[in-house]
Amino acid sequence: MSASLSFDPALADIPEGHLVGGQLLTGGERVAVHAPSTGAIVGHVPAGDADVVDQAVRRAAHVQATSGWATCPPRERARVMRRWAQLVEENLERLARLESFCSTRPIAETTSWDVPFTAEGLRFFAEYADKLGGNVAATQSDLLGMTIAEPYGVIGAIAPWNFPLVMASWKVAPALIAGNGVVIKPSEMTPFSIVLLAQLGEQAGLPAGLFNVVQGHGAVVGDALSRHPLCGKLTFTGSTRTGIAVMKAAAESGPKPVTLELGGKSPQVVYQDIRCVDTVAARIFRAFSGNAGQVCVTGSRLIVHEKVAGPLVEKIVALAGHVRPGPTWDERTAYAPIISPAQAERVEGIVSRACAAGAEQVVPMRRLLTNSGGAFLSPTVLTNVTAQNVAVREEIFGPVLTVQTFTEEDEALALAAHPEYGLAAGVHTADLGRAMRAVRQLRAGTVWVNRYGRSADFVIPTGGFGGSGIGKDLGREAVEANLRHKSVLMAFEG
Ligand code: NAD
Repeated sequence: MSASLSFDPALADIPEGHLVGGQLLTGGERVAVHAPSTGAIVGHVPAGDADVVDQAVRRAAHVQATSGWATCPPRERARVMRRWAQLVEENLERLARLESFCSTRPIAETTSWDVPFTAEGLRFFAEYADKLGGNVAATQSDLLGMTIAEPYGVIGAIAPWNFPLVMASWKVAPALIAGNGVVIKPSEMTPFSIVLLAQLGEQAGLPAGLFNVVQGHGAVVGDALSRHPLCGKLTFTGSTRTGIAVMKAAAESGPKPVTLELGGKSPQVVYQDIRCVDTVAARIFRAFSGNAGQVCVTGSRLIVHEKVAGPLVEKIVALAGHVRPGPTWDERTAYAPIISPAQAERVEGIVSRACAAGAEQVVPMRRLLTNSGGAFLSPTVLTNVTAQNVAVREEIFGPVLTVQTFTEEDEALALAAHPEYGLAAGVHTADLGRAMRAVRQLRAGTVWVNRYGRSADFVIPTGGFGGSGIGKDLGREAVEANLRHKSVLMAFEG
């Protein structure tokens, strides 16, 4: 590792192709890839079509069925996954650069978190290789009844741009350890790091062609993957709208099961008994401004007791003035750009509409680093909003916090409920009873109490309720979701 993490994006060594059967495939129409920090084109990938998807899925199916990956002693699969984790760590610098190159993730964070977390995730899932085999059923004594866990064959995975490597690894690692092959379609905006991850997997011992990457536009490649008859199951992370399209395609072409990790509009409820306003303010600030709000679990709705609202909002506003934006390849950067000019305009448009409907910007949203060519938006805090306000209703995917106040517990939980989303929620209180009442009543796949965000382990599953999705990533549940159970009943007498 060099002393400085900063790098020159012009010198990056990028894998600009599909990865099918261990080969990088290029040619044909191309999709330009931009750096959000400057707006400049930094590379291209081929625009895949239904034929490339078909080639990749057939290859994955053939390798899965013939390579011995699914039938070898399970601990052999675990050994390969652990070697893979080791190679990811040995290639930390290359992977972190590819990740920071075209995504919103600053190099200091991809080096300290995204890549190490990806490696450790591979190790976590490796440990499940021989832990989930099925069950023996309680049946009559001259019969043996059992369920056998089997892989689906090929898992079709579709990933978003906001944490390209981490989100992709949460799909790929449990699918592979369960004995499946995988075809993944990364976001066309962040297509490179996943190719290197797959190449390192092959170096570690994954049979070539077990894990393939197809590049291109979602409506073409993602749709063809969702409809492919040899995909036994789909796993998708992205917006609710696209998730519904994937589910529809899966139903029309199968049906086949889907795991959907979708959007959110997560509340953070702060009660009057919090011990330290400064600590909670810092937590709330990180939760809505991290990755400039481009996180599925962004805690974008503050619901705060009237008694603490004034000092808490004041401290959050003070923090909003001290972000450190910059190019993602500069190690000093601590605040992310918005992924694209179109997305920045969308965020600004929602803030304008929110204000036209009565919201007040306690701290106005501004463009930062206006000469950079990239779109950087400062964090904003909106008060005087109702539940109908567009900024309270819609997932913005930008650094916007709305503030609503309450006096009674029931009122707080009513405000926290969202008509569509149920991804995550934060509860901040020193009263355990209050916390548990909230935990029980909140419709959210994850509730964090006196913290906001995941821990450094992988064992707690993640996934949403309602419009935020179906099924879980992470944990034992993620491996189980990549296995189907065959029921067997054997009579002792022939
Ligand atoms: P998106 O829905 O626009 O795209 C996600 C992926 O789907 C991309 O690879 C895209 O190319 C592909 N796609 C687009 N159209 C498709 C189609 N018709 N068929 C199949 N695939 C298609 O989402 P995004 O902008 O990349 O990511 C942001 C969204 O993802 C936000 O809503 C965020 O909340 C959500 N997200 C959720 C989680 C979670 O764990 N719940 C995690 C990260 C992001």
